[in-house]
Amino acid sequence: MNKITVNDVNFRDRTALVRLDLNVPLDANQQITDDRRITAALPTVQKILADNGRAILCSHLGRPKGKHVPEMSLRPVAEHIGSLLNKTVAFAEDCVGPEASNLVGKMAAGDVLVLENLRFHPEEEKNDSEFARRLAGLADIYVNDAFGSAHRAHASTEGVTRFFNQSIAGLLMEKELTYLGNALSEPQRPFAAILGGAKISGKIDVITNLLDKVDMLFIGGGMVFTFAKAVGYQIGDSLLEEDKVELARELIAKVQSSRAKLFFPTDAVVASEISDSATTDVVPIEEIPDGKMGLDIGPDSIELFRRELQQAKTIVWNGPMGVFEHAPFAKGTFAIADLLADMTDAGAITVVGGGDSASAVKKAKLGDRLTHISTGGGASLEFLEGKELPGVAALTDSPKATEAAV
Ligand code: AMP
Repeated sequence: MNKITVNDVNFRDRTALVRLDLNVPLDANQQITDDRRITAALPTVQKILADNGRAILCSHLGRPKGKHVPEMSLRPVAEHIGSLLNKTVAFAEDCVGPEASNLVGKMAAGDVLVLENLRFHPEEEKNDSEFARRLAGLADIYVNDAFGSAHRAHASTEGVTRFFNQSIAGLLMEKELTYLGNALSEPQRPFAAILGGAKISGKIDVITNLLDKVDMLFIGGGMVFTFAKAVGYQIGDSLLEEDKVELARELIAKVQSSRAKLFFPTDAVVASEISDSATTDVVPIEEIPDGKMGLDIGPDSIELFRRELQQAKTIVWNGPMGVFEHAPFAKGTFAIADLLADMTDAGAITVVGGGDSASAVKKAKLGDRLTHISTGGGASLEFLEGKELPGVAALTDSPKATEAAV
């Protein structure tokens, strides 16, 4: 992690614009149904307040597409932050403009102001420079703790940084960059990656980037079947990306000439429908009958993955092994989650990319037992692809890192 963090800065007498990921689920009555994103953001806010700084919090919520959508207001989030911090939190009904400026003008040391949903303005996602300048004008220092939005060059994640002398990483951002970064750049070996999910098309760049880095690569999920087709297996009605078969062939050849050893499922749980009451069978991976779909890795594959993964010291996991949303196809994914929890207990470093694999781990109530579960699905995927995230690139480098580079 080579960025300045909030721990390197004293916020006394300063007004910080803090970009958070407060994109929490709300029910029809605007009640927050899961506040984990809020609680994950609090340590950064508390650090600023402990320094006697002023914290202006901003975020997106949902996809209002540049319009004011009352159901996507951050007001309930502001109220919830107030109750968690046990203090009155002010709320500005527009993230820029006279009301916001007025409320900022009234802030005292230790005060918190929450701005309305940034995406009510189309300029946010367009990374409009004038909008970024107006947002930045509210504060004298900028903090980004929204890892989940860091892969987007939006006004509040990238544009604003041009108007500040220093752009600081929050504590959650620091944690994400440290765990994901260290896993990729200095893993304890053997280093294994487990990739699953629906399609190859979403994971090509991850596979390519990880090939030179990992010692073992495990493939599961729907993308297995495009690989299976590429080597001439019978895949029945399983998920197939017809136009990616050639690419799958090339990827297999690339793995064979890389340092990584490839592990492929040996059997599959099949069914003719995706439902909670589906009748299932287990068949060899090369012989999925017509009319059936491969919807999870089978027991032999779980055993193979378990045996081989045991040796790994660092494991990165992205994407479920099957259609885990339905009980008959969830065993493979939960078995991996269990195995990773046990391996973490035994000293391995286990990092789960956000999105579906993170939900599976949480569903299995194993969240506390793994080393790190990323809060950003898209962002962690782009990180694993080896891409520089614009919201991270825009943060100020730490002098320590600069000295080390010189
Ligand atoms: P992704 O967003 O690419 O990580 O894909 C996650 C989705 O992949 C989940 O919703 C799973 O239900 C789905 N998935 C996993 N395995 C399979 C499979 N064998 N066939 C179809 N979909 C799958």
